[in-house]
Amino acid sequence: MAEIIRNYFTPRWRIDRIACACGWEGSSANMQMELHEEVTDYACPACENTLLIVSHPSLEQVQQAAADGNAEAQQQLALVEEALALHRNADH
Ligand SMILES: [Zn+2]
Repeated sequence: MAEIIRNYFTPRWRIDRIACACGWEGSSANMQMELHEEVTDYACPACENTLLIVSHPSLEQVQQAAADGNAEAQQQLALVEEALALHRNADH
């Protein structure tokens, strides 16, 4: 059964080893990644069983994680703010 990660910034899901029913075991880096609009699936490379479903972060989650000192969230937030600033400038 797939493990669902509701907060992208939850530590460890990326490096945690997960055992598949087929006997394969590894971390998300070794799984088959499939991007969807709202989530990213990670599947077993041996049998294609979905092992991890990771929700994409909301802006609130990015802001919260950035405030908590998460470096990746801070980078994402900087990109979002840059895009918003460009958008505002384009309105003038
Ligand atoms: Zn498997």
